[in-house]
Amino acid sequence: MPTTSGLLEDYHTHHRRCGHAAGELRDMIEAAHKKGLRAVGLSDHAPILHLPGDWPLPNTAMPRSMFPEYVQEMHDLQREFAGIMPVKAGVEADYVSGFVEAYRELLAPHDFDYVIGSVHFVDGWSIFSAKLPPQATREDVWERYLTLTGEAAACGLFDILGHLDCLKTKGHLPREWRTPTLLRTLDAIADCQVSIELNTSGWRKPVGDCFPTFEILQLAAQRGIPVCLGSDAHRPKDVAADFGRAVKLLRQAGYQSLASFTRRKREEIPLNT
Ligand SMILES: [Zn+2]
Ligand SMILES: [Zn+2]
Repeated sequence: MPTTSGLLEDYHTHHRRCGHAAGELRDMIEAAHKKGLRAVGLSDHAPILHLPGDWPLPNTAMPRSMFPEYVQEMHDLQREFAGIMPVKAGVEADYVSGFVEAYRELLAPHDFDYVIGSVHFVDGWSIFSAKLPPQATREDVWERYLTLTGEAAACGLFDILGHLDCLKTKGHLPREWRTPTLLRTLDAIADCQVSIELNTSGWRKPVGDCFPTFEILQLAAQRGIPVCLGSDAHRPKDVAADFGRAVKLLRQAGYQSLASFTRRKREEIPLNT
């Protein structure tokens, strides 16, 4: 870790409730403390609401029935770790066209420090599927993904947009991804002043690149789009993974500060040199 680690916060971590991550919430906090972070955000996958049932996609996101205890445990841990490691209560929720109100109702009764909105589904198709949807090209899927991302920014539900360009994980990003829709989407994100994240998990995957890629970070920095860091850790050892590299890249992209969230309010922490 760089000497700047005491200034850094990890806003994207998961734990065992989603069914595909290892460790308890407490383990993620302790890992962050060991790595000398300034704060840690807990952001497990919110229940899937666009399909019926308590756990419509097992091992993809936590069951609906687990959501209240998840939030309660985060608040208990915030109190327990007060003065030791600031804990930000968050969640990663899906942006699914037509389900904004359902997510609003799910989230509204709870006190979150921040909410990450991620497009994992494009009109019912999971971006982590091995194959493209029938009849669709990579170009079609990218355009639609960008449109949904712009809608997610504008819907008012989210503080942070998760892993832009995550379509590349399974090779679904078109070769020419620098489209007018990308620029329009970034303009829309800038207008809403929603943050993006530099998600370091891609560096740990075969794709070998962070989300989003450097050129998109540059375009975002030029537009004044806030950015925060997220490891997308699904086990304690990945908390704050590659944050030194991430900070270097953000500086190269033109960023001079990182977004920090408390009770849905954003402040900027300077990235000192
Ligand atoms: Zn996950
Ligand atoms: Zn995600």
